[in-house]
Amino acid sequence: MIEAANVSEQMNIVIVGHVDHGKSTVVGRLLADTGSLPQGKLDAVRAECVRTGKVFEYAFLLDALSDEQDQGITIDTARCFFKTARRDYIIIDAPGHIEFLKNMISGAARAEAAVLVIDAKEGVRENSRRHGYILGMLGIKQVVVVVNKMDLAKYGQAHFDAIEKEYRAFLAAIGTVVPKQFIPIAALHGANLTNRIPEMAWYTGPTLLECLDDFAKAPSKSAAALRMPLQAVYKFTGDGDDRRIFSGRIESGTVSVGDKVVFSPSNKTVTVRSIEGFNSTPRTTIAAGWSTGFTLSEEIYVTRGEIISHVERAPLVSTRFRVNLIWLSKKPFVTGRDYKIKLHTQAMAVRIHRINKVIDASELDVELTKDHVGRHDVADLVLETRSPVAFDLISESEATGRFVIVDGYDVAGGGIITGTEVDDQDDLRAEARLRDFNWVHGGVTTADRAQANGHRAGLVMFVGKHGVGKRRYARELEKSLFSARRQAYMLDGTNVLLGLDHDLSVDAARQELVRRFGEVVNLLATAGLIVVSTTNAIGLADASSVQTLIGDVPSVVVEIDPSGTSTSNCDLRFTGAEPESHVVTQISELLAQRGIVPHF
Ligand code: GDP
Repeated sequence: MIEAANVSEQMNIVIVGHVDHGKSTVVGRLLADTGSLPQGKLDAVRAECVRTGKVFEYAFLLDALSDEQDQGITIDTARCFFKTARRDYIIIDAPGHIEFLKNMISGAARAEAAVLVIDAKEGVRENSRRHGYILGMLGIKQVVVVVNKMDLAKYGQAHFDAIEKEYRAFLAAIGTVVPKQFIPIAALHGANLTNRIPEMAWYTGPTLLECLDDFAKAPSKSAAALRMPLQAVYKFTGDGDDRRIFSGRIESGTVSVGDKVVFSPSNKTVTVRSIEGFNSTPRTTIAAGWSTGFTLSEEIYVTRGEIISHVERAPLVSTRFRVNLIWLSKKPFVTGRDYKIKLHTQAMAVRIHRINKVIDASELDVELTKDHVGRHDVADLVLETRSPVAFDLISESEATGRFVIVDGYDVAGGGIITGTEVDDQDDLRAEARLRDFNWVHGGVTTADRAQANGHRAGLVMFVGKHGVGKRRYARELEKSLFSARRQAYMLDGTNVLLGLDHDLSVDAARQELVRRFGEVVNLLATAGLIVVSTTNAIGLADASSVQTLIGDVPSVVVEIDPSGTSTSNCDLRFTGAEPESHVVTQISELLAQRGIVPHF
């Protein structure tokens, strides 16, 4: 389960730029000039060009290398690999911006530095700008800009200076990227990549290779706050061994056996019991860069997409967050529609909550007032997910602050989280988190209780107007569950009003009624019960507040609407005229589907 982290110094770089500005030539030349090509390869491709009457291109060389790679002939001479005395460089393949965004955000290949290529003759083009924007958005701070094909500009310094000035001004407007160096090069002739040429004696700065070697390796993330997005929960398969392993990659921080950790957004706090290794000696501490698995002091119900952290430095949790996004799909990103967001290991429905501004990524100064985000636009938006997600601001943690948006099966855009945004559950969520982080546990765990009871805790919430039959159904459901040996309890809102809410005036703040009710449900659910609630005071509109207070205890909301006209969002709806047995059966089936009670 544990994969070795890299020990020797390597640096992932990406080479971007407008098509035909010379990316392949720069890569090919770097491989050739650092002696990183398989022996005879360059000559063979040159000879093939002579034979077929084609002008040699470094792009052919790269194609030839990648063909061999596909066939598995060349082993490690990846087209994307060259060495200097300082370190090994891995060139991340980024055929288009979608692939680049996808790789960067999924973590498949995260660039630490970038080389942006601009054609001296063509000058700054749309993609030069878009790529500059994307680099900034992805937080790639170590950028070198090479102005290529200087031979076509007669190696003129004034020409180079003009491009540098124009492009620096553009990047300054974005404000996130300040290139370390602009270098005039002629990749085709190998000028200023590794060697200097007399025609550009006026350039006294570093060559491309010197500049790359001078980039700093990103500091180890081990000292940062612990972030391990949960990938999967596995069961041991040994005889009588029912422990579960919570696995994922540690994106930042360090964790040790005995540490108290919290899962967000569920707020489950547990202690790390062991760090599991596959065929390796057990360890007591593990840090950023490793994929690993833990067993915990308590069996908890959590799923992929939660973030494991220490309690003191937990990630943010909300349904709303402010983002910077670039849209790449032909179909625009529109309001009022669901898309899928992939954020660390989480995938869930998302939509635009608010558009702050939309800008054309290649013309930063033009601000467009739009109600959608079109292809190649960049936007400042507030996004909203269906249920709360755990995340970080990009300034705090890269891996948990980046996301992509998927439309159908395709990545359509991506971005970074730049800010928090208050949603209507914020206060209650903060209350629930503080409460759960400091919860004093009894001697019997949730898992023990579920095992003994034969079911999980849950909530069935009857809502509807006064006198529509909620209580009648709730009673029957409680009785039916009880006779099936479920630990069920009918919580009538009246009883909470009579007692706990006795001090509140009749027209007390509704929020406070909801809050107290939710906390009572939470206590009963913690005791392992299936709570069957019925109340007039608390309606469908409050269901999400109650859910926030009970965290990941699953709930079923049942509306009784005699008019038959309600279109609000609930799990089941009846008119009140249905026989009790029918209602009870339908709800019981849903409880089984939701995994609260086992299937029969
Ligand atoms: P890419 O699309 O960015 O990968 O661009 P390529 O590397 O394929 O280069 C596009 C064209 O520009 C090719 O025909 C190259 O031979 C040519 N080219 C690349 N570098 C130079 C250079 O320094 N000088 C000149 N004159 N042509 C170049």
